[in-house]
Amino acid sequence: MTGRSAQMMILASLLLLLNGVCPAGEAGGTPAVRGASSGMVNYFTDNGFGNPVSTLQHPCAERYKDVTYIAYQGPHEDPFVCAYDHAAKTWSGPVKAGENTMGKTPDAVDPKDVDNHGRPAIIVDGKGYIHLIFGGHGGSYSLGINNLGTPGNGRQTHVVSKNPGDISSWEVLDNVDPFGTYSQFVKMDDGDIYLFYRHGSHRSDWVYQKSTDNCRTFAPPASLLKHKAQESDRNIHDAWYAWFDKGKGDTITASYVYHPCRVMGHTKERYNGYYMKMNCADDSWHNADGKALSLPVTKEYADENTLVFNSGTERSNHGTCHVDNDGNPHILFRMGKGQVRYSRWLGSAWQAPVVVTAESRNQDGDMIVESPLSVKTLLSGGGELRWWNTSDGGLTWAKGACLISSTEAGYVPGALVRNGGPGGWMVVSEHKAVQNHLFRNLYLLGDGGPVERAEAGAGNLGDRLKNLEANPPAPKTDKAEKKKHKKSADSGDGDE
Ligand code: ZN
Repeated sequence: MTGRSAQMMILASLLLLLNGVCPAGEAGGTPAVRGASSGMVNYFTDNGFGNPVSTLQHPCAERYKDVTYIAYQGPHEDPFVCAYDHAAKTWSGPVKAGENTMGKTPDAVDPKDVDNHGRPAIIVDGKGYIHLIFGGHGGSYSLGINNLGTPGNGRQTHVVSKNPGDISSWEVLDNVDPFGTYSQFVKMDDGDIYLFYRHGSHRSDWVYQKSTDNCRTFAPPASLLKHKAQESDRNIHDAWYAWFDKGKGDTITASYVYHPCRVMGHTKERYNGYYMKMNCADDSWHNADGKALSLPVTKEYADENTLVFNSGTERSNHGTCHVDNDGNPHILFRMGKGQVRYSRWLGSAWQAPVVVTAESRNQDGDMIVESPLSVKTLLSGGGELRWWNTSDGGLTWAKGACLISSTEAGYVPGALVRNGGPGGWMVVSEHKAVQNHLFRNLYLLGDGGPVERAEAGAGNLGDRLKNLEANPPAPKTDKAEKKKHKKSADSGDGDE
């Protein structure tokens, strides 16, 4: 090594150390209090609540005209928005953008008392208005008859910013079905916006509603994945978890896993991996091999036509899916110990799934497909968020740069920022191993690690912690516990 390159390496290490993000030795310290500039902190807000972001409700952030807009679940499970202007290097927000009917007062302190399904997804429309969809966990009986599924809780709610590019004020647009959960926006190049969601609790169809006028109106829901009781055992209903994103050109990808939903003796079992693609020119669907599909897809039909892999008795969970320049899909699923597995379509078959890294458990994240052979995954796990890269089409994976780490906390990621980049790839919430409340610091992470914010702007809890101490939530009675468990069995849910 030349003297100059040694100097450069030392300088690079020092810069990393100053930034407080995964320096030599990497794990260690709490990034929030280590490494930020004077008067600054590494998180952009401290009022994330429960599980504020997820890869499932997505996008949770979009970069539009050099501003990254971020939506997350805050106090009372309400949707909040922050914005970062990359040119001016200034933050704004958080602003509360609506009311989640599932929120509780006072703030819950037991994770089991937070529903989390109503966390928001965000999209900026063709005119620059910002839309959030949030608050749904299938909708209650009081909202009317759900023809596509079984009732749950909450109310899927759509709000829009009153002005383009301005997060300061919001209004409700009452134009989508209230029976939604896991709401996801997909925006096409021509400006059409598709809203995908599960139309009720577990035993419900997955549907979409399409808007061709910047979300001012939506077509009625169309079913994609069908729920139904099994012929041989009416106690078990076929159910699904699905993830949607824009594919190549005017197409949308759907990747999903199967959930055998038991009415009696409910479990969270999920199996297998599936894929299909929508041609938005005529809203027709095809499998990876190009065969036209009949919708809605049943379990039997999916096994025959859209299977990526059969997980056998090993449980799986949804991940994310993106296409390469040829339009071929690359898919992440979680399996076994929650470790992410990768597969891609080879043109006539799916590559056997490969474990990206066995270094941690309970991983989650997203990926960038640079070319058919070059893929970067950004994964949480083991108290850090890190890139794992392949240059051989996913057969082998190498450890890449770490964007944040801690010995005292784990990080829960959202899906990649829509149109994000080195200035901000992903939003994560920080979950400390020891804390007596459910508020979370939130971070926007780019190539330089967390995007800093002045401490005064990032501190948004006010008196909430003091108030919680003074007025703690009432202890649960046995009766309330039993009722909750019954509800849980009926509608089948904890978080997810
Ligand atoms: Zn279920």
